[in-house]
Amino acid sequence: MSHDLKELFDSNRTWAAAMEQRQPGFFTRLLGQQTPQYLWIGCADSRVPANDLVGLLPGELFVHRNVANLVVHTDLNALSVIQFAVDALKVQHVIVVGHSQCGGVKAALAGTRVGLVDNWLRHVQDVRDQHAALLERVPEALRVDALVELNVLEQARNVCHTTIVKDAWARGQSVVVHGWVYGLHNGLLEDLRITAGALDDVWPAYQAGVARVARRYGADLEG
Ligand SMILES: [Zn+2]
Repeated sequence: MSHDLKELFDSNRTWAAAMEQRQPGFFTRLLGQQTPQYLWIGCADSRVPANDLVGLLPGELFVHRNVANLVVHTDLNALSVIQFAVDALKVQHVIVVGHSQCGGVKAALAGTRVGLVDNWLRHVQDVRDQHAALLERVPEALRVDALVELNVLEQARNVCHTTIVKDAWARGQSVVVHGWVYGLHNGLLEDLRITAGALDDVWPAYQAGVARVARRYGADLEG
């Protein structure tokens, strides 16, 4: 690999030429405006490239990514992205996407010391501790993926409880919040169905979502 990363510039030129050939004027049209309908909040993991997974082109998906796809109430970075997406771009859907075998979730579950990121992953540990009783009933080999799904439910709920989304709902703007999980092993997205389009939807959708995770991982109280 060269120091100036020439190979990436080469591949960029090839990509831009192919885009322009397929859709002449593609880039000049995008110059005018971006009108994405979706905001994707996903993990920074290199194996989960947002646009590619859903086959969307530049201009079609607004994206925010961080380690373990967290939406922390005081994270001005995530909140600024959500605000711009909802208030300015008027996206119709906000989708929190976790993925199986997430390294951040794995470290949080095990309490592995990694470094500075431990403080960030403390938020995932809060989710772990909140659902400790459920997770204890999940077979150990499946616990990471169970916590991945619980984390998506919590973060989707956090999106719903931002002032941004609450205000949008209060003024009658249509915004639907979703929670999905991506399977690294098969490349498929799955809807965890914590789908909320109004404040009253949030708690029932969240509770049903947690119950589904418990059932799926054999951890429901009757099971
Ligand atoms: Zn991850």
